[in-house]
Amino acid sequence: MTQKDKKGTPVAEKPTLMLPTTIMVRDLGEMLGLSHIDIIKELMKRGVMASVNQSVHFEVASSVATDLGYNVEQGEAPTATEEEAPAAVEGEVVEPEDEKSLQPRPPIVTVMGHVDHGKTSILDAIRETNVTAQEVGAITQHIGAYQVTVNDHVITLIDTPGHEAFTAMRARGASITDIAVLVVAADDGIMPQTKEAISHATAANVPIIVAINKIDLPAANADNVKQQLTQNNIIIEEFGGDVIAVPLSAKTREGLDDLLEHILLVAEVAELKANPDRPAEGAIVESRKHQSRGPLATVIVQKGTLRTGDIVIAGSSYGKVKAMFDENGQRVKEAGPSTPVEVMGLNKVPRAGDTFVVMDNEREARDLAESRGRAETEGTTHAVTLEAVSGDIAAGRVKDLNIVIKADTVGSIEAIRSSIERLSIDEVRVHVISTGTGNVSESDVMLATASRAIILGFTVKTDLGAKKKAEIEGVDIRLYDIIYVLIEDIDVAVKGLMEPVFQDVIDGHAEVRAMFKVRGGKISGCMVTDGLVRRNSLVRVLRDGVMIHESKVSSLRRFKDDVREVANGLECGIGVEGFDTFEEGDVIEAFHTEQKG
Ligand code: GDP
Repeated sequence: MTQKDKKGTPVAEKPTLMLPTTIMVRDLGEMLGLSHIDIIKELMKRGVMASVNQSVHFEVASSVATDLGYNVEQGEAPTATEEEAPAAVEGEVVEPEDEKSLQPRPPIVTVMGHVDHGKTSILDAIRETNVTAQEVGAITQHIGAYQVTVNDHVITLIDTPGHEAFTAMRARGASITDIAVLVVAADDGIMPQTKEAISHATAANVPIIVAINKIDLPAANADNVKQQLTQNNIIIEEFGGDVIAVPLSAKTREGLDDLLEHILLVAEVAELKANPDRPAEGAIVESRKHQSRGPLATVIVQKGTLRTGDIVIAGSSYGKVKAMFDENGQRVKEAGPSTPVEVMGLNKVPRAGDTFVVMDNEREARDLAESRGRAETEGTTHAVTLEAVSGDIAAGRVKDLNIVIKADTVGSIEAIRSSIERLSIDEVRVHVISTGTGNVSESDVMLATASRAIILGFTVKTDLGAKKKAEIEGVDIRLYDIIYVLIEDIDVAVKGLMEPVFQDVIDGHAEVRAMFKVRGGKISGCMVTDGLVRRNSLVRVLRDGVMIHESKVSSLRRFKDDVREVANGLECGIGVEGFDTFEEGDVIEAFHTEQKG
């Protein structure tokens, strides 16, 4: 590529750039003449966490290139591997992986279900029954996940049961579960959290195996559970569906082996594979601070092999892996795909659900971690509002409008569901991912975050915790009292007609210290006092705190050179379009607008 548009040179000519459907971060950096760290930072601003060897979709790459002043066109992929890369969803990171390098990996299983139905008992019983002989007597530690061996096959179980943890992790970016075991107590049947668990697993496209627990109890009624499952759209094999249901008792351990064998069967059908011979990637399942060992994080490796000495970044923490421990507290030197290990060596405690990747260089990891840390404190969220989705629909960027319905009665849920699903058009499908009676809860908000869904409430309220969480995560909760208003809103959104809401985002401030005459007017000699000023910034000129002019930067220079941006603490010359009557002490506020959501 000839576009050697080095950082800092003017980009006024708007060169045209051909970008393929997916492009590796490294290649994008080369095309744009930027370091891959700069590209990674740009991607982060757009909510995409990618490492140098990962690929991003055209939409994301073109957004970065457009901001840097390119005209972007979608064109031929420059290399053969990228041509073969699978089509990516917007914002999703895809990895072209050579089929031959893939090897089978153990399934990763999460146990879900209503409180007291026996999730913990099942996890404990499996662990106790299936530890290998030499480990007996070893002190097992709770590190958030463990592995068992069944008929020479390994299964990884996540030791934090419940759909809340599962969806909270998805909301953070980690999708690690391959199979969900839905526990239903045979004496109690399907309860509200069972329904939630079904919605959460289904929304994540994770296959379900039903464990009908407590069959040792006299009040157990497995047939009743099977009927109720059907009513909730879980059709078990016995009734002609494809969901396996295993009756068992965590207490007597009857049926446990059956459950494990069925997990292996579902795993075999899913052909779970990963390449162990590459730098590791995965997710944090649990983390804590140890008094002497410092921050400890249990990670599950998803791809590659993690080794001591590797440099990792997880969310906004980073570090060199000093030591790794398995669930028996034994030191291990490496961990391959689907293996959980507790990692020591991070500079701070990461959050469960953060994804981790191995990086080449500690300095780059630190820079990236620090800039992620800043993004976190600035509260950068990626809100999904109905207006924003409508804008994306209009632009042809989304094809599904995901919705969570909460209403006062089952009757109103059904009325709303059928009315809004009917609004689907060829280009956009209205997809109800979960429904429930009662107020909008934290669990609903987490599901909406993880599935980029909008919550519609009909004659219900929002729980306080849910309200706070929705603000943090940027989830749109829309409450209605009149059904046709609700339907009309969705109709307008589906047609891509809802007006997007824009908000100003301040980039930085510069103080005017001097004025210079140039051809055609005056520019200001400034010092950037916080943030940064960009060549393409919008600006307001403030005098004594009052805005006296609003337009955009017309020129941005350091010494004699045109530059793309000037950071805090540096002097520069700023020209403002349509304004040249600067006075010393004026403040130039640089900002850009972003679509809310
Ligand atoms: P969780 O809240 O889903 O994790 O449920 P627990 O594993 O804590 O179990 C709740 C209660 O049910 C406990 O008192 C268990 O001892 C009991 N329990 C769990 N599994 C069984 C079972 O198979 N049979 C009987 N009789 N009781 C069980």
